[in-house]
Amino acid sequence: MSRPDVVVVGAGLAGLAAARDLEAGGAQVTVLEARPRVGGRVEQVELADGRRVQLGGEVVGNAHTSYLELVAELGLTLSASYVAEPGEITRQVPGSVDVGEWPSWCTAADRASHEEVEAALVKLLSSIDPEDPWAFPDRSALDRMSVGDWLREAGASPGVMRLWEMFQLSMSDGSIERTSMFAHARQLRAGGSAGSYDVEQWENLRVAEGSATVALTMAAALHDVRLSTPVRRIEVGAGGSVVTTSDGERLRADAVVVAVPSGPARDIDIDGVSDARLTSLRRQRHAWAAKFVAAYDAPFWRERGQNALAESEGVLGSTWPQQRGVLSALVPPERYAAFAATDPATRTREALAQVAELYGPEATSPLQTWTRLWGTDPWTQGYVTNWRPGDVEAVGPLHGTHEPPFYVCGSDQWVAGYMEGAVRTGRGAAAAALTRG
Ligand SMILES: Cc1cc2nc3c(=O)[nH]c(=O)nc-3n(C[C@H](O)[C@H](O)[C@H](O)COP(=O)(O)OP(=O)(O)OC[C@H]3O[C@@H](n4cnc5c(N)ncnc54)[C@H](O)[C@@H]3O)c2cc1C
Repeated sequence: MSRPDVVVVGAGLAGLAAARDLEAGGAQVTVLEARPRVGGRVEQVELADGRRVQLGGEVVGNAHTSYLELVAELGLTLSASYVAEPGEITRQVPGSVDVGEWPSWCTAADRASHEEVEAALVKLLSSIDPEDPWAFPDRSALDRMSVGDWLREAGASPGVMRLWEMFQLSMSDGSIERTSMFAHARQLRAGGSAGSYDVEQWENLRVAEGSATVALTMAAALHDVRLSTPVRRIEVGAGGSVVTTSDGERLRADAVVVAVPSGPARDIDIDGVSDARLTSLRRQRHAWAAKFVAAYDAPFWRERGQNALAESEGVLGSTWPQQRGVLSALVPPERYAAFAATDPATRTREALAQVAELYGPEATSPLQTWTRLWGTDPWTQGYVTNWRPGDVEAVGPLHGTHEPPFYVCGSDQWVAGYMEGAVRTGRGAAAAALTRG
């Protein structure tokens, strides 16, 4: 039985960030990773012309301070994300494709309603402390309420309801009718927004070398990362914990850091931590999403005055320009079944046909396409946490906390998710484990 000081389960950004800080703090660390590669929900491939294409997490924003700090420490560089792309946004619904800020089906009454709803949102957010969202007095009631319920109460017009639903699904979140308003509001606050989603805070930057390079760079400097080694069982004990891999190897360690998404975490047998913690950990659920990427010689959408940013009621809920000539798209949870249930050739043809409706016939002749079904990938089982009405209360205040010598981290352990959540909680878990000695 090998005896590292700490076993880290999962080599995504969270596990790698934790392992990096633990090693820097003097611990002997072994990282066990189920897949034959590191990075988890960040993954990249390279085109023959050298462009690095991201098939998972991609963009960050000014509010993502832990991630930006790590990027600087690793000597990587930041560049502007899709927000720098010239041109206008496109909205696609059955029967119309509209380019410009407001789609043709939005009336003057919808625009006025939009202003009123935004004012109500700003007022609500100002009463939530970003450092301590749990202190919000009406938390339970707001958690039970869906975003849709809150919009109706705020008097949103049908056009505004439709715009919010399109935006929510363009992010591959759950429907407004199946998302907790408290979860939505605390996420906005934690990400530094005073009102609705602010791209400068959330999405204006990307790592020029490729976001998966962040994970690869951290992994390259670690001493013991074991790939293709899924963990099946964790027995936690004050005098030492035992981690068992799927092929029966047992590793004894003083501390265990679990850095896997909520779905795969449910599949690990965990003994020796409180029932309350296990109930909380296992109660979280994910939105299921897929990413579709198409690479072209050139950004042909520019000739039409479009910036390749789209929100759509089609199977692809959104598109955006990843880098020169590369288009990213997300399939939201509510449409995942329609996408995943289709054979790969038809799926690709239909996705490209939708992109052609948005940006013209050049869309049907990409250099290459990629599809990643993250929702049904056994080592992700989703995309990001989906907080349905009542879920914040059900998961409870143990969310994102530790029970030494058992530590948890990962983007699912931060209120706002994202690569920021992975790095922030990974470094937090390492600091907590090191402080305990
Ligand atoms: C399509 C897509 C697009 C995204 N876009 C963005 C974006 O633009 N910006 C952004 O900030 N975020 C984005 N995200 C979210 C972001 O990528 C993730 O939140 C973040 O990378 C998660 O990191 P993590 O380390 O917490 O988890 P993961 O990256 O999921 O890492 C967990 C690791 O644990 C491993 N594992 C699982 N089970 C076991 C087991 N039993 N034993 C051992 N290992 C196990 C997994 O293989 C994985 O490597 C996106 C995610 C997806 C899927």
